[in-house]
Amino acid sequence: MIDTHSHLDDKRFDGDREEIISRAFSGGVEKIINVGADLESSTQSVGLAGRNKNIFAAVGLHPHIFNQAGEFSKKIQSLGGLAADKKVVAIGEIGLDYFSHTGEKITEAQKKNQQQGFIAQLELARDLDLPAIIHCRASKDDPIDAYEDAYRIINVFHSMRVVFHCYGGGLEFTRKIIQETDAFFSFTGNITYVKAGSEAIEVLKAIPLERMMLETDCPYLAPVPHRGKRNEPAYIAYVKEKIAEIKEIPAQEIDRITTENARLFFKLG
Ligand SMILES: [Zn+2]
Ligand SMILES: [Zn+2]
Repeated sequence: MIDTHSHLDDKRFDGDREEIISRAFSGGVEKIINVGADLESSTQSVGLAGRNKNIFAAVGLHPHIFNQAGEFSKKIQSLGGLAADKKVVAIGEIGLDYFSHTGEKITEAQKKNQQQGFIAQLELARDLDLPAIIHCRASKDDPIDAYEDAYRIINVFHSMRVVFHCYGGGLEFTRKIIQETDAFFSFTGNITYVKAGSEAIEVLKAIPLERMMLETDCPYLAPVPHRGKRNEPAYIAYVKEKIAEIKEIPAQEIDRITTENARLFFKLG
């Protein structure tokens, strides 16, 4: 298995980071991609990758950063500097997040700013021939708003490799993306929370295994039976098992195909 999205630089791993990493590699995880969300965590990702043969880095500015109005070209420039490191295999996480965490709605101006930041980083990825890891979350009022905007934007970058991480799009949107783009979808422990008969199950069934990858997004979104606790890469096996159960495909096959997908998508060799 390859954990295509982790945040091992997070403070919550400060006490036992090395232990967590060795537990992952002895528990069937082959490689880990550590993903940045701002300049600081992107720098830490590059450092972590430099110290560990089987850890790779993604560098990016999370959409929340662009809720603040202002000039961001300097930040993108710094990101470009970080991305030159040979262990950097993607630009991410970047995208659109219209979900309000403060109770105050994301304004139209903030959405526009997020879109500009997203586009600028997709341009960087294209120039460096790197894939993009997309974080996309819709608002409470409209379950497809951010997804439709992201779709419109990635269509302009049509030959680029992109993955929707922690995917939570609806069935209709998913079908459109499968048909009209080459985008990938990756899933975290939150798929172990879904209830029987929910749309999320239909979404998982609709996506061909050839377009799927596994991730933990640790320390967030720990799968059942660790739900609510700190997540870690070793728990990715629960995500694999859940996909196997829903798609009625042996877990070994899920492992083999998603690992191969991740190797090719991120050019891990
Ligand atoms: Zn994310
Ligand atoms: Zn993340």
